[in-house]
Amino acid sequence: MKIFCIGRNYVDHAKELNNPIPEQPLVFMKPPTALLRNNDPFYYPDFTQNLHYEVELVLKICKNGKAITKKYASDYFNEIGLGIDFTARDIQDKCKAKGHPWERAKAFDNSACISKFVPIKNYGTDHLSFELLKNDERVQFGNSKDMIFDFETLICSLSKMFTLQKGDLIYTGTPAGVGPCIIGDRLHGKLQGESMFETKIL
Ligand code: ZN
Repeated sequence: MKIFCIGRNYVDHAKELNNPIPEQPLVFMKPPTALLRNNDPFYYPDFTQNLHYEVELVLKICKNGKAITKKYASDYFNEIGLGIDFTARDIQDKCKAKGHPWERAKAFDNSACISKFVPIKNYGTDHLSFELLKNDERVQFGNSKDMIFDFETLICSLSKMFTLQKGDLIYTGTPAGVGPCIIGDRLHGKLQGESMFETKIL
């Protein structure tokens, strides 16, 4: 399975990191070994001094396809979850400055926290609200209506270059409010007010 991640998909987040608004989806990938499931704890890695959380809506692909047109894009996902794109921001800043790839900053073990999945028909896709609480305090809040590239556009764009396979995941980008976490923090993700995951930084 593949894990796609979309960068800068919310205007307010692109601005907070002083990044330009992309003209097409910014894509990077994480390997399957990045997944952190079942509310397992996240162990703070020793290679970073500035670990950031980024909470994101995550689509799960439900059938294989390539060159999918926008009209049929919604047939290719039927479940949605919530995840954290853990980012070693200090390493990412160095990679960006040198024009290097981001894998060392974003694709390391356990960097893709993932929740349970719920059927998309429960909530629809147009106005999905989600939030991240750090130690019971809300630090991020987003809504799918504010995405620069919506779910269908992402499916269409990705499948032009990458065959989508059942079980692939798409992290659809983070809203504003990203920030650091430290050992002892508790991160709690909610979708439409429903608790989706809770992980502790150890
Ligand atoms: Zn992200």
